[in-house]
Amino acid sequence: MPRDPRFDILFEPVPIGPVTAPNRFYQVPHCTGMGYRRPRSLAGLREVKAEGGWGTVCTEYCSIHPSSDDEPFPSASLWDDQDIDRHALMVERVHAHGALAGVELWHGGGASANHYSREVPLGPYSTPAGVDDPVQTRAMDKADIKELKKWHVDAARRAQRAGFDIVYVYAAHWYLIRQFLLPSNQRSDEYGGSLENRARLLRELIVETKEAIGDTCAVAVRFSASSGGADGDQDTTEPRRMLELLSDLPDLWDVTVHDYSYEMGSSRFVEEAGLEATMSWVKSVTDKPVVSVGRFTSPETMLRQVRDGIMDLIGAARPSIADPFLPQKIAEGREDEIRECIGCNICYTGDQTGTPIRCTQNPTMGEEWRKGWHPEFIPPKGSDARILVVGGGPAGLEAGMSLGKRGYEVTIVEARRELGGRVALESALPGLATWGRVRDYRLHQISKLANVEVYRESVVDESQILEFAADHVVIATGATWRRDGVGRWRERPIPGWEIPSVMTPDDIMDGVMPAGPVVVYDDDHYYMGGVIAEALRRAELEVVLVTPANEISTWTRHTEEQHRIQARILGLGIAVETGTTLANVGEGGVTLESVHTGQTRELEAATIVMTTSRVPNDALYESLADRIAIRSIGDCLAPGTIAAAVYSGHRYARELDADVPIGVSFLRE
Ligand code: ADP
Ligand code: SF4
Repeated sequence: MPRDPRFDILFEPVPIGPVTAPNRFYQVPHCTGMGYRRPRSLAGLREVKAEGGWGTVCTEYCSIHPSSDDEPFPSASLWDDQDIDRHALMVERVHAHGALAGVELWHGGGASANHYSREVPLGPYSTPAGVDDPVQTRAMDKADIKELKKWHVDAARRAQRAGFDIVYVYAAHWYLIRQFLLPSNQRSDEYGGSLENRARLLRELIVETKEAIGDTCAVAVRFSASSGGADGDQDTTEPRRMLELLSDLPDLWDVTVHDYSYEMGSSRFVEEAGLEATMSWVKSVTDKPVVSVGRFTSPETMLRQVRDGIMDLIGAARPSIADPFLPQKIAEGREDEIRECIGCNICYTGDQTGTPIRCTQNPTMGEEWRKGWHPEFIPPKGSDARILVVGGGPAGLEAGMSLGKRGYEVTIVEARRELGGRVALESALPGLATWGRVRDYRLHQISKLANVEVYRESVVDESQILEFAADHVVIATGATWRRDGVGRWRERPIPGWEIPSVMTPDDIMDGVMPAGPVVVYDDDHYYMGGVIAEALRRAELEVVLVTPANEISTWTRHTEEQHRIQARILGLGIAVETGTTLANVGEGGVTLESVHTGQTRELEAATIVMTTSRVPNDALYESLADRIAIRSIGDCLAPGTIAAAVYSGHRYARELDADVPIGVSFLRE
């Protein structure tokens, strides 16, 4: 299909200092959990973005010196010349597709505890460093500031030698340069006090970086347009004065906001284009191009950003992760095929846990180099096998779709009327509607495949599977929440659990409305306990959320949601009992037990919702395992995230009739 001419504007080139972006699609710097440790994986990952039409592709944060070491969070590095080749690998792959390559030079200052390099952390003044680490920064003296500028210039020169087109001065988030910019900067010399003084370091870094490499490279500044406040109503007074002061000094303003959980807010808390109200003034105070983000997946929204003069370049991290070919799909009039980011922030958990990035929507993310997986191309089938997929959740739909794209004859059977499995059910919970995109994308793709048939309201049993006589059977029947309270804390069922007033998230998602007061017992620690509590509270029930952890939904720290979840839960008037387990449950109440002291007390409860762990629905698989060619995938194989279910389905489809290495199934760096 030809491109919709309305979108032509998105494909206009944009001059940025001495270079020109071929279009307005700009992959802003984003972490990958790979950093300096996995350069080939990174080159493969960044390459598919350029191949998919992103006109500019940037690195993650790239440390300029060992005094800025973020371990265990993996950053890139340009500490010395040894680092150049690693980056050149990526630059070459990005350039091969006509895109610009950008590098985000970074010094963490007090945010870096330097666990790896063991250098003393640096800052504008002495303050606690790292993430709750028992260490403080050393206040930088003038000689340190001079040295810092030299490190930055040296790193910029290395970036230039690696071939980068855009070099960042990173003045946002909680890192060193911003520590100078903020009013909390306690220095009494010319780098502290007045706004001009606090902006001095940034000004000098822009000027000196431009002097060093500005002949061939654009110098971008990443800057926070706000200094705090509620989403959509942030205080922009000081950042605005500062940006006015530096207005046309850099070649590009990459603008973000004060709060990271707002900037990359999950869809549970922040809408598409959510930063607009905070940063829409920026273009009025600079003549230089502006890029910003907003989890843009809709071409219409992108168009409006440019038309309304909010930004010149459409910045994206997550939309480019979920669909590296998003620009190309718009270019070819295939907007309906965009694999839209669902805003779950699973991609961010890679950096947070020091492991390679993965994505719920895009199972090939991170596998480009090490497994040779491509987000758009999948090898044709290796036989004429007919395949039966039992279960139409994320695993079954992904397997069916990918097998179909390979050309296999596929039948998907689903027990329920509605397809999507857990995604269909969970997306009806408060704040999770966007997750339905996992189902929608796959169903739309499947609707275009004549060789994939889908039967709904079709519960199949052992004999029907045998009768169907497929060459391969894939069991994607999911998992069921446990009712007995067995989870991380309790390895044995909680005494009394067999009573009817004990429910599970499955009951709530099936539409059963419990009687209050309700105890939601969360020993799962991801989103489900908090979301169920929220749903029941919104139905005006009295709710107590009980968890053995010391904070609610603790794993959501990795998705940058924990703080917001805790605020929402408390704001809704849900009582929270942390560090607490259930000693037993009974009609009318539970016995709470402190996990720290063992002290117990009684709590009234008409209903208890056990959110602890899940049991795989693997009876079909077990009964047929020794008799036919059969595999289980997704939550039926091992209950986990939706991302893991999609990955499992995709992996099955890729590996069928393929030569898969025995033992380690991927290349290692
Ligand atoms: P996953 O996350 O692994 O995809 P889900 O729980 O989301 O798992 O989806 C499993 C799907 O399988 C559900 O939609 C469920 O209704 C369906 N299912 C379970 N058992 C059967 C069966 N015997 N026949 C057909 N569909 C089934
Ligand atoms: Fe979007 Fe989730 Fe993929 Fe991240 S992991 S890009 S938030 S779909």
